[in-house]
Amino acid sequence: MIRLHDTARNEVRPLELRTDGAVTMYVCGPTVYGPPHLGHGRFSLVFDVLRRYLAWSGLDVTYVSNITDIDDKIIHRANAESRPWQDVTAECEDLWWDAMAGIGVLRPDQTPHATEFVDRMVEMVGELVDRGHAYTTSDGVYLSVEAVEGYGLLAHQSLDDLVAGAGDRAVVGEEKRHPGDFALWKLSKPGEPSWPSPWGDGRPGWHTECVVMSLDLLGDGFDLHGGGLDLAFPHHENERAQAVALGRDFAHHWMHNGFVEVAGEKMAKSVGNFTTLTQLLESHDGRAYRVLVLQAHYRSPVEVTPATIGRAEATLQTIDALARRTEALPDAPPDGSVLDAFRDHMDDDLNTPRAMAVVFETGTRINTLLDAGDTGAAGPLLASWRSMLSAVGLDPRDSSAELVPDDVLALARARDEARAAKDYGLSDQLRDELVSLGWVVEDTPDGTRVRRT
Ligand SMILES: [Zn+2]
Repeated sequence: MIRLHDTARNEVRPLELRTDGAVTMYVCGPTVYGPPHLGHGRFSLVFDVLRRYLAWSGLDVTYVSNITDIDDKIIHRANAESRPWQDVTAECEDLWWDAMAGIGVLRPDQTPHATEFVDRMVEMVGELVDRGHAYTTSDGVYLSVEAVEGYGLLAHQSLDDLVAGAGDRAVVGEEKRHPGDFALWKLSKPGEPSWPSPWGDGRPGWHTECVVMSLDLLGDGFDLHGGGLDLAFPHHENERAQAVALGRDFAHHWMHNGFVEVAGEKMAKSVGNFTTLTQLLESHDGRAYRVLVLQAHYRSPVEVTPATIGRAEATLQTIDALARRTEALPDAPPDGSVLDAFRDHMDDDLNTPRAMAVVFETGTRINTLLDAGDTGAAGPLLASWRSMLSAVGLDPRDSSAELVPDDVLALARARDEARAAKDYGLSDQLRDELVSLGWVVEDTPDGTRVRRT
């Protein structure tokens, strides 16, 4: 069984499953008020890799990731641009799914929208009030964190330390009983989107959204709750606090991925740095970000710059070249020892850098065998190589999948016609023309194929 770092216990331990053979995971999704940024790309890739790997290992995975479609930031942007808030969320959700497709992230099995669960959130807040763990103020309903056993579990700090660490930000409002208390329900101001509740029209707090959606869709004691490290505190701490205050069994394992750094180069656009995932995808192969994420451990920082993405693209080229070279080779049973080595690394707290080293070594061995003409011995290694790539969601792409402009395709077809007519002078001339345009020209049984280097 896979072992993963658990933020709550601060140790790597086996992922224990509620039901044998099935994994339930909830990962906090985006608040849709702007284009997805690089950090969104990283958490989406980390958990997409985990999900694919668990499924590859034979587990039945249920993956839920939400869309937060009501939030102060959404309201601010809608007001600033004088447009309905639903317009902002619809536009940004489209950008989100486009970007996810661009980096090859599979759609979650369920993508609950916060606004679809408001009735359930009102019920849960009511229950917390009834139990005496929440109280009303003039602007909403708050959870009393002092009533929560073990508050600070994910932050690894006591409530007193958390309050002391917050400094001036922790000044208690006139009505808040404790600086750590947080809003479960926010009363709306005139003109703001709102839903009815026993405490007045308003909207749910962010922490309330996720605890309701995860428990509703995955049930008590689901297996794994994840997100970026920045969500551990206060967001996940506060989700957990509500579940504890309700006496519910919440997530059994907490997994957080590290940050994205752009520190190596200035953020300015003038040096070509990216600030959003959408920007990165405009000029680069989306698979390159996956390669970059795989080559770092998920708990370590990743530096995302044109230079690091460029190196990842070079890595992709070696993968694609081997895929092209081996595309006609038949399937063989995989090599068990190669897959075992890969699995050992993946099961060791998702050690993708080591697992990818196994993938690359296998690729080198295949190339060496093919150079020697030993296709028979290459077969099992090739099957293993293909299988490992699928486990981490990397699709080798042959040149036919590449976008080749129509005029270039026309030159390639003209060359095929020249060769068919045995006009080798013209055929060579057309080859030179394609090369001068920056294309690599290959002869295949199906005719001329062109690709970028
Ligand atoms: Zn969340």
